[in-house]
Amino acid sequence: MSLPKCAHCQMDWHYGESVKNLLFLTCPYCKEKNYARKFRLRDILFSLSISIIMLFIFPFMDILFLWRTIFGMVALIVYLLTYPVNLRLTKEEEPLF
Ligand SMILES: [Zn+2]
Repeated sequence: MSLPKCAHCQMDWHYGESVKNLLFLTCPYCKEKNYARKFRLRDILFSLSISIIMLFIFPFMDILFLWRTIFGMVALIVYLLTYPVNLRLTKEEEPLF
């Protein structure tokens, strides 16, 4: 697994630093702002599988609402904890199209 590297100073971010910087992506070394690349395959696959489970599998199963909520929360936590893995940083914000 590869962790993010600052686009400005090329320093590798540690896992803890990456999680701490999830929102602003400010480099802990040079304090420059980085941008995450959009349309990462992982994000697409993740949201796709969660949506399929939530929309098409859960409604046909007799699962307590509580379990669905717990599943949603666990999925969110897993998503956030694995966010820095293979995250690519850029100097400029990439245009959407
Ligand atoms: Zn940096």
